[in-house]
Amino acid sequence: MIKMENDIQFDKADFEEDRYARLRLIPWWDQDRLRNATVMVVGAGAIGNELIKNLALLGIGKILIFDMDRIENTNLTRSVLYRRKDVGRYKAEVAAERAMEINPDVKAKAFDLNIIDDVGLGVFRRMDVVLGGLDNREARLSINQSCYHVNKPWIDGAIEALNGFARVFIPGHGACYECTMTETDWMLINKRKSCALLTHEQMNEGKIPTTPTSSSIIAGIQVQEMLKLLHADRNLPTLAGKGYVFNGLTHDSYVVEYQEKPDCMSHDIYEDIVETHWSSSEITLGEVLAAIRGDLGEKAVIDLDRDIATRATCSCGKHKELMIPVHKLKGQMLTCDCGKQMSFQSIHTISGDADFLNKTPAQIGLPPLHIIGGRAGTKMRYYEFTEDRDRFFEELEIKI
Ligand SMILES: [Zn+2]
Ligand SMILES: [Zn+2]
Repeated sequence: MIKMENDIQFDKADFEEDRYARLRLIPWWDQDRLRNATVMVVGAGAIGNELIKNLALLGIGKILIFDMDRIENTNLTRSVLYRRKDVGRYKAEVAAERAMEINPDVKAKAFDLNIIDDVGLGVFRRMDVVLGGLDNREARLSINQSCYHVNKPWIDGAIEALNGFARVFIPGHGACYECTMTETDWMLINKRKSCALLTHEQMNEGKIPTTPTSSSIIAGIQVQEMLKLLHADRNLPTLAGKGYVFNGLTHDSYVVEYQEKPDCMSHDIYEDIVETHWSSSEITLGEVLAAIRGDLGEKAVIDLDRDIATRATCSCGKHKELMIPVHKLKGQMLTCDCGKQMSFQSIHTISGDADFLNKTPAQIGLPPLHIIGGRAGTKMRYYEFTEDRDRFFEELEIKI
Protein backbone atom coordinates (compact mmCIF):
# COMPACT_ATOMS: atom_id res chain seq x y z
CA MET A 1 0.00 0.00 0.00
CA ILE A 2 1.10 3.58 -0.62
CA LYS A 3 0.36 6.21 1.97
CA MET A 4 -0.66 9.52 0.46
CA GLU A 5 -0.34 12.89 2.12
CA ASN A 6 -4.07 13.21 2.53
CA ASP A 7 -4.12 9.86 4.31
CA ILE A 8 -6.06 8.04 1.61
CA GLN A 9 -4.58 4.68 0.83
CA PHE A 10 -4.31 3.19 -2.64
CA ASP A 11 -3.15 -0.07 -4.05
CA LYS A 12 0.16 0.37 -5.81
CA ALA A 13 -1.34 -1.48 -8.77
CA ASP A 14 -3.84 1.36 -9.25
CA PHE A 15 -0.99 3.67 -10.15
CA GLU A 16 0.96 1.30 -12.27
CA GLU A 17 -1.94 0.32 -14.48
CA ASP A 18 -1.55 1.71 -17.98
CA ARG A 19 -3.51 4.90 -18.65
CA TYR A 20 -5.57 3.24 -21.39
CA ALA A 21 -6.35 0.00 -19.54
CA ARG A 22 -10.06 0.71 -19.14
CA LEU A 23 -10.45 1.59 -22.81
CA ARG A 24 -8.73 -1.65 -23.78
CA LEU A 25 -11.48 -3.60 -22.01
CA ILE A 26 -13.69 -2.83 -25.02
CA PRO A 27 -13.31 -6.00 -27.13
CA TRP A 28 -12.74 -4.32 -30.53
CA TRP A 29 -10.53 -1.53 -29.16
CA ASP A 30 -7.01 -1.08 -30.52
CA GLN A 31 -5.22 1.70 -28.66
CA ASP A 32 -2.26 1.54 -31.08
CA ARG A 33 -4.52 2.70 -33.88
CA LEU A 34 -5.53 5.73 -31.86
CA ARG A 35 -1.90 6.45 -31.03
CA ASN A 36 -0.99 6.24 -34.72
CA ALA A 37 -3.98 8.22 -35.94
CA THR A 38 -3.82 11.72 -37.41
CA VAL A 39 -7.04 13.68 -37.04
CA MET A 40 -7.93 17.16 -38.22
CA VAL A 41 -10.31 19.34 -36.23
CA VAL A 42 -11.70 22.33 -38.08
CA GLY A 43 -13.06 24.96 -35.74
CA ALA A 44 -12.06 25.33 -32.09
CA GLY A 45 -15.32 26.79 -30.81
CA ALA A 46 -18.01 25.12 -28.69
CA ILE A 47 -18.02 21.82 -30.60
CA GLY A 48 -14.29 21.97 -31.37
CA ASN A 49 -13.42 22.22 -27.67
CA GLU A 50 -15.36 19.07 -26.92
CA LEU A 51 -13.90 17.25 -29.92
CA ILE A 52 -10.34 18.15 -28.94
CA LYS A 53 -10.93 17.27 -25.30
CA ASN A 54 -12.19 13.82 -26.31
CA LEU A 55 -9.34 13.23 -28.77
CA ALA A 56 -6.79 14.12 -26.10
CA LEU A 57 -8.38 11.88 -23.48
CA LEU A 58 -8.45 9.01 -25.95
CA GLY A 59 -4.78 9.39 -26.85
CA ILE A 60 -5.15 10.28 -30.54
CA GLY A 61 -1.51 10.59 -31.62
CA LYS A 62 -1.64 13.69 -33.82
CA ILE A 63 -4.31 16.36 -33.70
CA LEU A 64 -4.25 19.24 -36.19
CA ILE A 65 -6.42 22.14 -35.11
CA PHE A 66 -7.55 24.77 -37.63
CA ASP A 67 -9.11 28.01 -36.47
CA MET A 68 -8.38 31.64 -37.28
CA ASP A 69 -10.25 33.32 -34.44
CA ARG A 70 -9.17 34.61 -31.07
CA ILE A 71 -10.78 33.75 -27.74
CA GLU A 72 -13.46 36.13 -26.50
CA ASN A 73 -15.16 36.36 -23.12
CA THR A 74 -18.34 34.83 -24.52
CA ASN A 75 -16.45 31.67 -25.49
CA LEU A 76 -15.76 30.88 -21.85
CA THR A 77 -19.24 29.47 -21.21
CA ARG A 78 -18.84 26.76 -23.86
CA SER A 79 -15.15 26.01 -24.08
CA VAL A 80 -13.68 23.68 -21.49
CA LEU A 81 -10.15 24.30 -22.82
CA TYR A 82 -10.12 28.10 -22.38
CA ARG A 83 -9.53 30.20 -19.27
CA ARG A 84 -10.15 33.86 -18.54
CA LYS A 85 -6.45 34.61 -19.00
CA ASP A 86 -6.57 33.20 -22.54
CA VAL A 87 -8.94 35.90 -23.84
CA GLY A 88 -7.31 37.53 -26.87
CA ARG A 89 -5.12 34.54 -27.73
CA TYR A 90 -5.68 32.33 -30.80
CA LYS A 91 -8.21 29.57 -30.11
CA ALA A 92 -6.27 26.93 -32.04
CA GLU A 93 -3.05 27.69 -30.17
CA VAL A 94 -4.60 27.49 -26.70
CA ALA A 95 -6.63 24.40 -27.61
CA ALA A 96 -3.46 22.63 -28.78
CA GLU A 97 -1.61 23.51 -25.55
CA ARG A 98 -4.47 22.28 -23.38
CA ALA A 99 -4.84 19.04 -25.35
CA MET A 100 -1.22 18.20 -24.62
CA GLU A 101 -1.71 19.15 -20.99
CA ILE A 102 -4.67 16.75 -20.71
CA ASN A 103 -2.58 13.98 -22.23
CA PRO A 104 1.17 14.34 -22.88
CA ASP A 105 0.98 11.33 -25.23
CA VAL A 106 -0.71 13.43 -27.91
CA LYS A 107 0.85 15.93 -30.28
CA ALA A 108 -1.53 18.78 -31.05
CA LYS A 109 -0.68 21.59 -33.43
CA ALA A 110 -2.43 24.84 -34.18
CA PHE A 111 -2.91 26.21 -37.68
CA ASP A 112 -4.08 29.78 -38.07
CA LEU A 113 -5.25 29.12 -41.63
CA ASN A 114 -8.45 29.53 -43.58
CA ILE A 115 -9.65 26.01 -44.34
CA ILE A 116 -11.24 27.12 -47.64
CA ASP A 117 -8.21 28.78 -49.22
CA ASP A 118 -5.04 27.97 -47.37
CA VAL A 119 -4.95 24.22 -46.79
CA GLY A 120 -3.67 22.03 -49.63
CA LEU A 121 -5.36 18.77 -50.55
CA GLY A 122 -2.17 16.93 -49.59
CA VAL A 123 -2.87 17.91 -45.99
CA PHE A 124 -6.31 16.30 -46.14
CA ARG A 125 -4.76 13.28 -47.85
CA ARG A 126 -2.61 12.65 -44.77
CA MET A 127 -5.52 12.60 -42.31
CA ASP A 128 -7.32 9.51 -41.09
CA VAL A 129 -10.50 11.42 -40.28
CA VAL A 130 -11.55 15.09 -40.45
CA LEU A 131 -13.86 16.43 -37.74
CA GLY A 132 -15.89 19.60 -38.24
CA GLY A 133 -16.95 22.01 -35.54
CA LEU A 134 -18.10 24.73 -37.91
CA ASP A 135 -20.79 27.34 -38.08
CA ASN A 136 -20.99 27.95 -41.81
CA ARG A 137 -22.04 26.11 -44.95
CA GLU A 138 -19.29 27.37 -47.18
CA ALA A 139 -16.54 25.86 -45.04
CA ARG A 140 -18.51 22.61 -44.80
CA LEU A 141 -18.88 22.46 -48.57
CA SER A 142 -15.18 23.14 -49.04
CA ILE A 143 -14.15 20.44 -46.55
CA ASN A 144 -16.59 18.04 -48.19
CA GLN A 145 -15.03 18.59 -51.62
CA SER A 146 -11.47 18.34 -50.28
CA CYS A 147 -12.19 15.12 -48.39
CA TYR A 148 -13.97 13.62 -51.38
CA HIS A 149 -11.08 14.39 -53.77
CA VAL A 150 -8.60 12.52 -51.55
CA ASN A 151 -11.08 9.87 -50.40
CA LYS A 152 -11.15 10.68 -46.68
CA PRO A 153 -14.10 10.52 -44.28
CA TRP A 154 -15.32 13.58 -42.47
CA ILE A 155 -17.74 13.99 -39.60
CA ASP A 156 -19.81 17.13 -39.31
CA GLY A 157 -21.41 18.45 -36.15
CA ALA A 158 -23.89 21.29 -35.70
CA ILE A 159 -25.69 22.71 -32.70
CA GLU A 160 -28.30 25.35 -32.04
CA ALA A 161 -29.42 26.06 -28.46
CA LEU A 162 -30.23 22.65 -26.94
CA ASN A 163 -30.49 20.81 -30.26
CA GLY A 164 -27.94 19.42 -32.64
CA PHE A 165 -26.96 16.82 -35.18
CA ALA A 166 -23.93 14.80 -36.23
CA ARG A 167 -23.36 13.41 -39.71
CA VAL A 168 -20.78 11.12 -41.26
CA PHE A 169 -19.67 11.43 -44.87
CA ILE A 170 -17.49 8.77 -46.49
CA PRO A 171 -16.69 9.07 -50.22
CA GLY A 172 -18.43 6.29 -52.11
CA HIS A 173 -20.59 5.30 -49.13
CA GLY A 174 -23.90 7.08 -49.43
CA ALA A 175 -24.71 10.76 -49.46
CA CYS A 176 -22.06 13.46 -49.02
CA TYR A 177 -22.59 16.89 -47.48
CA GLU A 178 -23.42 18.47 -50.83
CA CYS A 179 -26.08 15.78 -51.43
CA THR A 180 -27.82 16.94 -48.24
CA MET A 181 -27.87 20.61 -49.24
CA THR A 182 -31.22 22.22 -49.82
CA GLU A 183 -32.07 25.15 -52.07
CA THR A 184 -31.97 27.41 -49.03
CA ASP A 185 -28.41 26.23 -48.23
CA TRP A 186 -27.31 27.11 -51.77
CA MET A 187 -29.07 30.43 -51.65
CA LEU A 188 -27.28 31.35 -48.43
CA ILE A 189 -23.89 30.27 -49.80
CA ASN A 190 -24.35 32.19 -53.03
CA LYS A 191 -25.45 35.25 -51.12
CA ARG A 192 -22.20 35.14 -49.18
CA LYS A 193 -20.14 34.43 -52.27
CA SER A 194 -21.61 37.35 -54.13
CA CYS A 195 -20.50 39.61 -51.29
CA ALA A 196 -16.79 39.49 -52.09
CA LEU A 197 -16.49 42.55 -49.87
CA LEU A 198 -17.35 40.75 -46.66
CA THR A 199 -14.59 40.67 -44.10
CA HIS A 200 -13.89 37.62 -41.99
CA GLU A 201 -15.52 39.33 -39.01
CA GLN A 202 -18.64 40.25 -40.92
CA MET A 203 -18.96 36.68 -42.15
CA ASN A 204 -19.02 35.51 -38.55
CA GLU A 205 -21.82 37.84 -37.69
CA GLY A 206 -24.62 35.31 -38.03
CA LYS A 207 -24.26 34.33 -34.39
CA ILE A 208 -26.00 31.14 -33.29
CA PRO A 209 -26.95 30.39 -29.67
CA THR A 210 -24.97 27.39 -28.46
CA THR A 211 -24.55 25.62 -25.13
CA PRO A 212 -21.77 23.50 -23.60
CA THR A 213 -24.33 20.75 -23.04
CA SER A 214 -25.46 20.33 -26.65
CA SER A 215 -21.88 20.70 -27.91
CA SER A 216 -20.68 17.90 -25.63
CA ILE A 217 -23.49 15.60 -26.78
CA ILE A 218 -22.88 16.21 -30.48
CA ALA A 219 -19.07 16.18 -30.26
CA GLY A 220 -19.35 12.96 -28.26
CA ILE A 221 -21.32 11.35 -31.09
CA GLN A 222 -18.81 12.65 -33.65
CA VAL A 223 -15.84 11.20 -31.78
CA GLN A 224 -17.60 7.88 -31.25
CA GLU A 225 -18.18 7.72 -35.00
CA MET A 226 -14.49 8.50 -35.54
CA LEU A 227 -13.55 5.62 -33.24
CA LYS A 228 -15.62 3.26 -35.34
CA LEU A 229 -14.04 4.55 -38.55
CA LEU A 230 -10.57 3.98 -37.09
CA HIS A 231 -11.66 0.39 -36.45
CA ALA A 232 -13.29 0.00 -39.86
CA ASP A 233 -12.36 -3.67 -40.19
CA ARG A 234 -14.37 -4.50 -37.05
CA ASN A 235 -17.64 -4.19 -38.99
CA LEU A 236 -19.21 -1.79 -36.51
CA PRO A 237 -22.28 0.09 -37.74
CA THR A 238 -21.54 3.73 -38.65
CA LEU A 239 -23.55 6.79 -39.61
CA ALA A 240 -22.05 6.92 -43.14
CA GLY A 241 -24.45 8.93 -45.30
CA LYS A 242 -26.69 9.42 -42.28
CA GLY A 243 -27.36 11.97 -39.59
CA TYR A 244 -27.99 11.65 -35.87
CA VAL A 245 -30.58 14.23 -34.88
CA PHE A 246 -30.92 15.28 -31.26
CA ASN A 247 -33.87 17.25 -29.86
CA GLY A 248 -32.71 18.86 -26.64
CA LEU A 249 -36.20 19.88 -25.48
CA THR A 250 -37.67 16.38 -25.47
CA HIS A 251 -34.38 14.44 -25.54
CA ASP A 252 -35.75 12.47 -28.46
CA SER A 253 -33.18 11.44 -31.01
CA TYR A 254 -33.33 9.64 -34.33
CA VAL A 255 -31.20 8.78 -37.35
CA VAL A 256 -31.99 10.05 -40.84
CA GLU A 257 -30.59 8.53 -44.00
CA TYR A 258 -29.79 11.09 -46.70
CA GLN A 259 -30.46 10.51 -50.38
CA GLU A 260 -27.34 10.31 -52.49
CA LYS A 261 -27.64 12.60 -55.52
CA PRO A 262 -26.33 10.89 -58.65
CA ASP A 263 -25.49 14.25 -60.26
CA CYS A 264 -23.77 15.69 -57.15
CA MET A 265 -20.79 17.83 -58.14
CA SER A 266 -18.71 16.79 -55.12
CA HIS A 267 -18.37 13.10 -56.09
CA ASP A 268 -14.97 13.41 -57.71
CA ILE A 269 -12.31 11.13 -56.23
CA TYR A 270 -8.79 11.77 -57.52
CA GLU A 271 -7.86 8.18 -58.36
CA ASP A 272 -4.35 8.69 -59.65
CA ILE A 273 -2.32 10.98 -57.36
CA VAL A 274 1.42 11.27 -58.03
CA GLU A 275 3.83 12.55 -55.38
CA THR A 276 6.44 14.87 -56.88
CA HIS A 277 9.61 16.70 -55.88
CA TRP A 278 7.91 19.99 -56.66
CA SER A 279 7.82 22.81 -54.16
CA SER A 280 4.87 25.12 -54.78
CA SER A 281 7.00 28.18 -53.97
CA GLU A 282 9.94 27.23 -56.23
CA ILE A 283 8.83 25.43 -59.37
CA THR A 284 7.21 27.58 -62.07
CA LEU A 285 3.87 26.79 -63.66
CA GLY A 286 5.76 26.51 -66.99
CA GLU A 287 7.97 23.77 -65.54
CA VAL A 288 4.93 22.02 -64.07
CA LEU A 289 3.14 22.14 -67.43
CA ALA A 290 6.23 20.78 -69.22
CA ALA A 291 6.50 17.90 -66.74
CA ILE A 292 2.80 17.08 -67.09
CA ARG A 293 3.12 17.17 -70.89
CA GLY A 294 6.11 14.84 -70.64
CA ASP A 295 3.84 12.50 -68.72
CA LEU A 296 0.50 12.83 -70.52
CA GLY A 297 1.40 14.18 -73.94
CA GLU A 298 1.94 17.53 -75.67
CA LYS A 299 -1.69 18.60 -75.52
CA ALA A 300 -2.02 18.24 -71.75
CA VAL A 301 -3.15 21.20 -69.65
CA ILE A 302 -3.11 22.01 -65.93
CA ASP A 303 -6.53 21.79 -64.31
CA LEU A 304 -7.04 23.70 -61.07
CA ASP A 305 -9.74 23.02 -58.49
CA ARG A 306 -10.40 26.74 -58.06
CA ASP A 307 -10.79 29.79 -60.27
CA ILE A 308 -7.88 32.20 -60.35
CA ALA A 309 -8.64 35.86 -61.05
CA THR A 310 -5.98 36.95 -63.54
CA ARG A 311 -6.70 40.54 -64.51
CA ALA A 312 -9.01 43.39 -63.59
CA THR A 313 -10.07 45.97 -66.14
CA CYS A 314 -11.87 49.28 -65.78
CA SER A 315 -14.14 51.05 -68.21
CA CYS A 316 -11.69 53.99 -67.99
CA GLY A 317 -9.10 51.86 -69.77
CA LYS A 318 -6.87 51.01 -66.81
CA HIS A 319 -6.11 47.41 -65.91
CA LYS A 320 -4.14 45.57 -63.27
CA GLU A 321 -2.82 42.10 -62.61
CA LEU A 322 -4.60 40.12 -59.86
CA MET A 323 -3.32 36.48 -59.82
CA ILE A 324 -5.33 35.44 -56.79
CA PRO A 325 -8.08 32.84 -56.23
CA VAL A 326 -11.46 34.42 -56.96
CA HIS A 327 -12.65 33.47 -53.51
CA LYS A 328 -9.90 35.61 -51.94
CA LEU A 329 -10.77 38.76 -53.89
CA LYS A 330 -11.49 41.72 -51.66
CA GLY A 331 -13.52 44.78 -52.56
CA GLN A 332 -10.62 47.22 -52.72
CA MET A 333 -8.74 44.96 -55.16
CA LEU A 334 -11.47 45.64 -57.70
CA THR A 335 -11.66 49.38 -57.13
CA CYS A 336 -9.91 51.35 -59.83
CA ASP A 337 -7.78 54.45 -59.09
CA CYS A 338 -10.54 56.38 -60.82
CA GLY A 339 -13.01 55.12 -58.19
CA LYS A 340 -15.04 52.84 -60.45
CA GLN A 341 -15.66 49.14 -59.90
CA MET A 342 -13.41 47.00 -62.14
CA SER A 343 -14.43 43.72 -63.80
CA PHE A 344 -12.12 40.71 -63.80
CA GLN A 345 -11.19 37.67 -65.87
CA SER A 346 -10.59 34.27 -64.32
CA ILE A 347 -9.21 30.88 -65.37
CA HIS A 348 -9.08 27.39 -63.96
CA THR A 349 -7.16 25.72 -66.77
CA ILE A 350 -3.56 26.61 -67.66
CA SER A 351 -2.21 25.82 -71.12
CA GLY A 352 0.96 26.82 -72.99
CA ASP A 353 -0.36 30.21 -74.03
CA ALA A 354 -0.84 31.56 -70.49
CA ASP A 355 1.23 34.71 -69.93
CA PHE A 356 2.07 33.86 -66.31
CA LEU A 357 3.96 30.57 -66.76
CA ASN A 358 6.98 32.12 -65.05
CA LYS A 359 5.00 32.34 -61.80
CA THR A 360 5.01 29.67 -59.11
CA PRO A 361 1.83 27.95 -57.91
CA ALA A 362 2.24 29.84 -54.62
CA GLN A 363 2.28 33.14 -56.54
CA ILE A 364 -1.17 32.44 -57.99
CA GLY A 365 -2.52 31.65 -54.53
CA LEU A 366 -2.40 27.84 -54.42
CA PRO A 367 -1.82 26.60 -50.87
CA PRO A 368 1.21 24.50 -49.86
CA LEU A 369 0.99 20.74 -50.39
CA HIS A 370 -1.83 21.22 -52.86
CA ILE A 371 -2.76 18.80 -55.63
CA ILE A 372 -3.36 19.92 -59.21
CA GLY A 373 -4.78 18.03 -62.16
CA GLY A 374 -3.12 17.22 -65.47
CA ARG A 375 -5.63 16.65 -68.24
CA ALA A 376 -5.18 15.31 -71.76
CA GLY A 377 -8.54 14.65 -73.42
CA THR A 378 -10.43 12.48 -70.96
CA LYS A 379 -7.26 11.27 -69.22
CA MET A 380 -6.67 12.82 -65.79
CA ARG A 381 -3.77 12.45 -63.43
CA TYR A 382 -3.17 14.41 -60.24
CA TYR A 383 0.12 15.83 -58.99
CA GLU A 384 0.92 16.77 -55.41
CA PHE A 385 3.48 19.41 -54.42
CA THR A 386 4.98 16.86 -52.06
CA GLU A 387 8.16 18.86 -51.48
CA ASP A 388 6.04 21.21 -49.31
CA ARG A 389 5.28 18.44 -46.85
CA ASP A 390 8.21 18.89 -44.53
CA ARG A 391 7.90 22.64 -44.50
CA PHE A 392 4.22 22.43 -43.68
CA PHE A 393 4.49 19.80 -40.96
CA GLU A 394 8.04 19.77 -39.65
CA GLU A 395 8.29 23.42 -38.79
CA LEU A 396 5.49 22.49 -36.46
CA GLU A 397 7.50 19.61 -35.02
CA ILE A 398 5.00 17.13 -36.31
CA LYS A 399 6.11 14.21 -38.45
CA ILE A 400 3.41 13.08 -40.83
ZN1 LIG B 1 -22.82 14.34 -52.87
ZN1 LIG C 1 -10.87 53.29 -63.85
